[in-house]
Amino acid sequence: MADLFDKCRTYTAAREVMAAGLYPYFKPIERNFGTEVIVKGKRLIMMASNNYLGLTVHPKVIEASIKAVEKYGSGCTGSRFLNGTLELHEQLEERLAELTGHEAALVFSTGFQTNLGAISAVVGKRDAAIIDRADHASIVDGCRLSFGTTLKFKHNDMADLECVLQKAQEFEGRLIVVDGVFSMEGDICPLPDVVALAKRYDTRVMVDDAHSLGVLGKSGSGTSEHFGLKNEVDMVMGTFSKSFASLGGFVAADESVIHYIKHNARAMIFSASMPPAAVAAVLACIDILKAEPERRERLWRNAEHLRKGLHSLGFSTGRSETPIVPVVVGENEVTFRFWKGLFDNGLFVNSAVSPAVPPGHGLLRTSVMATHEISQIDHALEIFEKVGKELGFI
Ligand code: PMP
Repeated sequence: MADLFDKCRTYTAAREVMAAGLYPYFKPIERNFGTEVIVKGKRLIMMASNNYLGLTVHPKVIEASIKAVEKYGSGCTGSRFLNGTLELHEQLEERLAELTGHEAALVFSTGFQTNLGAISAVVGKRDAAIIDRADHASIVDGCRLSFGTTLKFKHNDMADLECVLQKAQEFEGRLIVVDGVFSMEGDICPLPDVVALAKRYDTRVMVDDAHSLGVLGKSGSGTSEHFGLKNEVDMVMGTFSKSFASLGGFVAADESVIHYIKHNARAMIFSASMPPAAVAAVLACIDILKAEPERRERLWRNAEHLRKGLHSLGFSTGRSETPIVPVVVGENEVTFRFWKGLFDNGLFVNSAVSPAVPPGHGLLRTSVMATHEISQIDHALEIFEKVGKELGFI
């Protein structure tokens, strides 16, 4: 008879990459300076972070966190539902409702939990969730946790979405869930078309704005603002682990929807709330987002500079049109080798292979911050050129 743990003992995929000296994951950072970090005593340019506005090291964000720890302590030691709600959580929910233009918002402890909790709460037994094939894992898992049916459409393919919507008419309620900005490839969802189809087929729309908050829209409020559709989306979720330099997530919608999620989302009810320092950091980031719009301008300038530079070296950045700028590589082993070359030469990027991307479509995911200097981006491009030539890529 097989033992439950046989699969663990015979799992060799990661160990093989480690043995080849190419393992790109779980790299412990010793110090963080924002655009640069120290790993094993070596200083690297950081282009693997989602710290789009560069706020994790902003003095006002750090000060707000310290003050919150002094006032409320280090943790909330309980769920929002019971003893874990601070006045700070409620202040944050008001600010998020205002920022996204919805009646109400609800804060969760991570973005992943937000998708698990919110989607599984609203998609019931007789309902269908209709999702893009490239949607984030937390959306897929939120759908799996719900009692409803999940239907998928081809990435950003509106003809396919329409076919799926036609089939979905047999379900009682329907919810389309899309990423605003897709996390690996950095392309934007064609939201105006999604909204138009949703209206035609009497379906609700939810947008995951994890990579759009602080990035897209005139005030940085996300994908709906970018397309001038602020009142057309039914639910929006976001995370605080990217532009908002912290940890946590939220969903915003009509008050009755938020009230329902608040009393039915198990990922919130049965899990401890965001710690005070994390909440205070987000509040400070929202203030900075308003006060320093030039950060977003620098972010886009930096993204363009990196993308153009990579193109002129002969690399493909796929569908990227945002500060997420992947370099398309291919098979896993080549992706890992390329990653190692960059890392050894002083550049920290992310290596994405299946299941984060389709098999054989490995990529090096880079992302810029508003706070990168042009000289740092130019240096990163030099490293890409050197390693790309060494590996016969360009
Ligand atoms: N949605 C998307 C599109 C994401 O990229 C992520 C995280 N990478 C999440 C949700 C989950 O957010 P968090 O890291 O806050 O759990």
